[in-house]
Amino acid sequence: MSFISTRGGACVTASQAILRGLAPDGGLYVPAVFPQMTLADIAALTKLDYRARALTILRGYLDDFNAQELADAIASAYEAAKFDDAAIAPTKKLDSNTHVLELFHGPTLAFKDMALQLLPHLTTLSAKKNGENREVAILVATSGDTGKAALEGFKDVPGTSCTVFYPTDGVSDVQKLQMTTTGGENTHVIALNGNFDDAQSGVKALFSSADFHQQVNARGKVLSSANSINFGRLVPQIVYYFSAYADLLNAGAIALGDEVNFVVPTGNFGNILAGYYARSMGLPVMRMGLPVNRFICASNSNNVLTDFFKKDGEYNRNRDFYTTTSPSMDILISSNLERLLFECADRDGALIARWMQQLRTSQSYAVGQQRQEWLLSVFAAGYADDRDCAEEIARVFEQHHYLMDTHTAVASRVLRQYRETSGDLTPTVIVSTASPYKFAADVLTAVAGKNAVAGLDAFACSDELEARSGMPVPQQVKALRSLPIRHTAHCEKGGMAQAVLDAFGGK
Ligand SMILES: *Cc1c(COP(=O)(O)O)cnc(C)c1O
Repeated sequence: MSFISTRGGACVTASQAILRGLAPDGGLYVPAVFPQMTLADIAALTKLDYRARALTILRGYLDDFNAQELADAIASAYEAAKFDDAAIAPTKKLDSNTHVLELFHGPTLAFKDMALQLLPHLTTLSAKKNGENREVAILVATSGDTGKAALEGFKDVPGTSCTVFYPTDGVSDVQKLQMTTTGGENTHVIALNGNFDDAQSGVKALFSSADFHQQVNARGKVLSSANSINFGRLVPQIVYYFSAYADLLNAGAIALGDEVNFVVPTGNFGNILAGYYARSMGLPVMRMGLPVNRFICASNSNNVLTDFFKKDGEYNRNRDFYTTTSPSMDILISSNLERLLFECADRDGALIARWMQQLRTSQSYAVGQQRQEWLLSVFAAGYADDRDCAEEIARVFEQHHYLMDTHTAVASRVLRQYRETSGDLTPTVIVSTASPYKFAADVLTAVAGKNAVAGLDAFACSDELEARSGMPVPQQVKALRSLPIRHTAHCEKGGMAQAVLDAFGGK
């Protein structure tokens, strides 16, 4: 299969798309055609475990990898020892037509593990296939979850290294500890004196500096990105939409061919887009592809996507930015939306290039009424602010004795609003993206009130949550208390290039 750019550019293989990340014309790589999954193929998934389900889906997209290569990569990525649930991505029942797909059982307790455990293996295989013998040096700017997931994924993977910049202002104590205690001989963690925007624009500047590339190449390394625009991060996410459907079939909650809804807490639009790709694997009218009625796009107060879907098909980033209790969704430019626009515009790359140019120059673009109607035939959208979200955590805990993290609670709340306004009672899967223990203080505040949290650090909040819910504190959080700090490097905004070279020099 070949991959094309959303801005109209040339064909590459899957391994080239993964190695390059971004297309030379600035667009994102998308499959030239979608591989197909019939209902019979989906029925066959019910008898398979998560790893075998992953192999079925990945083979369809990554056809310049052989089955053994993919099977080996999947076996190491989703090794039993790395996940604290044997099902890897279990589906839990909340009530008769509401289910939760839990994607937080990996090493860093957030759904980013589902992709970043596999990406390093796909990257090294892609390097080999394309005659790239240099070390692949991954560079990441993080606001919290991505950095730790990338470090855990690339840790001690031969032929790679992983360097993460995190801002001194902006990551939580647990997130910072998760990163600075990371093991592995090929990991580097650098504190940047500044905020996330400084880290992000600094890393972008390094990627576009010919000088910096040369200095890195002179050390026998080649730069690469683990950002969510890389197709290698998208494809592992398609798997769990099929897996959840197979789980519902096995549980007798649906019959083969029944449509379901998915509600997804959304930031960069990567997770929900993977679901849309699952649905696109064949024409729904021919009963192919994943049978989905609606994808419900759930946002926090940074609700640029809600407005885009609901108001008038205009994407306008010229608005206030809010810091919320669901920080991984605090984003105003959803980069993976470009892949959905490409489908919405009948794959007209020139039109996408024009919209993206407008977004840069005048902060907005509009898709027009007809295209908006098409979008609303597959998507719905809503948002919940911090107060709604806290209320939802408390309500779900009281009614179902189920503890949700702040991001998942946004989705749960938006689902309730959607059901009330649309009357659509299709069986729905809430996609859960983080463990409540990753955001223990906010979750405890929601279920027990502000006073219960006063004076407690993140670990004490976790213990208190465990006492109240009976849900055990994950080993990954407990271990943080005693792990030694291994990474103490820090730098100023102007010193990022040198900090990377220093990190490389040391090892
Ligand atoms: C990254 C993240 C999201 C947002 O996912 P996108 O693919 O960017 O839409 C939601 N929740 C959590 C916990 C995350 O880490």
